[in-house]
Amino acid sequence: MKLDVVGSVLCTQCPAACCRYVSLPLDNPRTLRDYDDIRWYLMHEGFSVFVEDGDWYVQIQARCRNLREDNLCGVYETRPRICGEYEPGECDYLAGDYGYDHYFTHASQLEAYVERKLGKPLADARTTPRERRVGHVRMTTGGGRRSPRARSNAEPAR
Ligand code: SF4
Ligand code: SF4
Repeated sequence: MKLDVVGSVLCTQCPAACCRYVSLPLDNPRTLRDYDDIRWYLMHEGFSVFVEDGDWYVQIQARCRNLREDNLCGVYETRPRICGEYEPGECDYLAGDYGYDHYFTHASQLEAYVERKLGKPLADARTTPRERRVGHVRMTTGGGRRSPRARSNAEPAR
């Protein structure tokens, strides 16, 4: 993808925000037990959950091992395809919270949301039979606009 001048300048100013996490799609929760499984994610440091256009995703803060100390990509020529396909116009540096439907960074936020939505406390999930498990991510590719971006010392914006 050919880079525009604005994108190139932005990447040289940004601390590589897009190379410091991964986000993966979840099965959308339906039951109290489903929400309780997602609550488990939110009990872990570095995990957050967001809902975008009705679809649920888990986001994990994790610095890419290829990110150099100067915040440029150390494997630019062989970077994963997902990095090269990232659209510079809607990146983390510019787009902020993306206008998510919901964004949870702590289990208590999800507990309050579920109580409003279902009228039951999540604690009741302990006595609810499990229909299916959503604590695992769906094994699909893509999902979520927030994906890592490619950076290079020679061509610093992607
Ligand atoms: S593409 Fe990535 S490195 Fe470039 S400005 Fe956006 S978040 Fe920062
Ligand atoms: S562009 Fe991709 S491979 Fe390179 S540092 Fe960022 S996330 Fe890692």
